[in-house]
Amino acid sequence: MTVDFRLDAEQIAARDGLRRYLEKEVAPLVDDHEARGLDVPRPIVAAMRDFGLLGGLLPESLGGLSMPMTTYGTLIAEVARVWPSLRSVLSITNLAASVLAEAGSPALLERHLPGLLSAEKLGCFALSEPDIGSDAANIQTRATRDAQGWVINGRKLYISISPICDLGVVFVSTTGDDGRKGVSCLLFDRHAPGVQVTALPKMGMHSCPLGEVLFEDVRVPAENLIGQANKGFAIAKKYLNAGRCVVAFSALGIAEASLEAAVRFATERVQFGKPIGSFQLVQQMIADMMTLVETSRLLSYRAADALDRDAPDQQLLCSMAKRHTTDAVLRVAEMALQVHGGAGYTTLFPVERHYRDARHLSIAEGTNQIQSMLIAQHALGLSALR
Ligand SMILES: Cc1cc2nc3c(=O)[nH]c(=O)nc-3n(C[C@H](O)[C@H](O)[C@H](O)COP(=O)(O)OP(=O)(O)OC[C@H]3O[C@@H](n4cnc5c(N)ncnc54)[C@H](O)[C@@H]3O)c2cc1C
Repeated sequence: MTVDFRLDAEQIAARDGLRRYLEKEVAPLVDDHEARGLDVPRPIVAAMRDFGLLGGLLPESLGGLSMPMTTYGTLIAEVARVWPSLRSVLSITNLAASVLAEAGSPALLERHLPGLLSAEKLGCFALSEPDIGSDAANIQTRATRDAQGWVINGRKLYISISPICDLGVVFVSTTGDDGRKGVSCLLFDRHAPGVQVTALPKMGMHSCPLGEVLFEDVRVPAENLIGQANKGFAIAKKYLNAGRCVVAFSALGIAEASLEAAVRFATERVQFGKPIGSFQLVQQMIADMMTLVETSRLLSYRAADALDRDAPDQQLLCSMAKRHTTDAVLRVAEMALQVHGGAGYTTLFPVERHYRDARHLSIAEGTNQIQSMLIAQHALGLSALR
């Protein structure tokens, strides 16, 4: 057995270069942008291209870098450590680009992929609906085919970056020539007539807007079909494992930032004539945080490595990594806040934002309850769902 979680020299150089850029150019923007609800600036998103964070996972033939998930995840954790909203904008645009690259026609790729990979355009991924969340296959938004193309009617809910995106991939219910119902994937223009996006107020990540997307007789050209009609759900499913692994690394990055803040504060804050980090009960919180960060790191890399090797247990490991790290980050952020005492409850220190920014991670990309059922199914061979 080989157990080696050390990054190679190239990965270390990529991580350190990104960290230097983030600390210098990005970190100074975060508090003000988040406090005022200003979107992540587009030039910052575009700058991430140079670090492989736009299309890095795509093959070189499509303008990507064929990056392994172990490298991509390392970089994603760095971004999340500094600005989770930026991480989310990148992940969602990459997801839309990956779906397009997976099964879009060459003409569709030529027209839209370069814009997504340069951040000239942002793309969203519209699957969830008001009545369809965990039961994602049961899509209600409908698309009908006529001589000119497709006509979409319905509503998508909790769609990340929809208020600021330019285009998106949407999963719709369709009926095949044989009368059978299925799911199809269409590329839509966010500014097309009939598309209406309403931003949703939320708890954290104020620089990465979330929205509801209403489709009212929205016309989409026939060539915007991605993959085969009625077989589109397989495309959504294909990216679930990678998405969960990316969420795990995002949680890891926020957990690292929380731990760093707690250690800094515990060494600087003095009570009873000593730094509070000298007290054993504070040390216990630091030790718990460190252990949770380390177990999160190990599971995230295990999942990434399984994806890179296309290993048979990749789905299991991605679900475990997603569930563990997104639960762990909440405990880490909560303890970091406690270490700060009253200061932690103010917005003058970063730890309350870490907690708010991490809170959605156990819900998005398949809730942690759904992950638990997927994990248990591996041992039991019994599905709780169908
Ligand atoms: C910040 C954020 C960003 C998001 N971005 C996107 C996006 O870009 N695109 C997109 O398509 N979606 C997105 N989502 C939606 C997300 O994928 C859904 O919220 C998630 O799948 C859960 O669906 P739901 O909210 O409808 O909850 P529900 O499915 O209604 O679940 C509610 C509760 O019931 C539990 N539950 C449901 N079914 C079961 C079961 N069978 N057994 C046990 N427990 C169960 C859940 O775990 C949860 O605790 C985002 C969500 C958030 C919060």
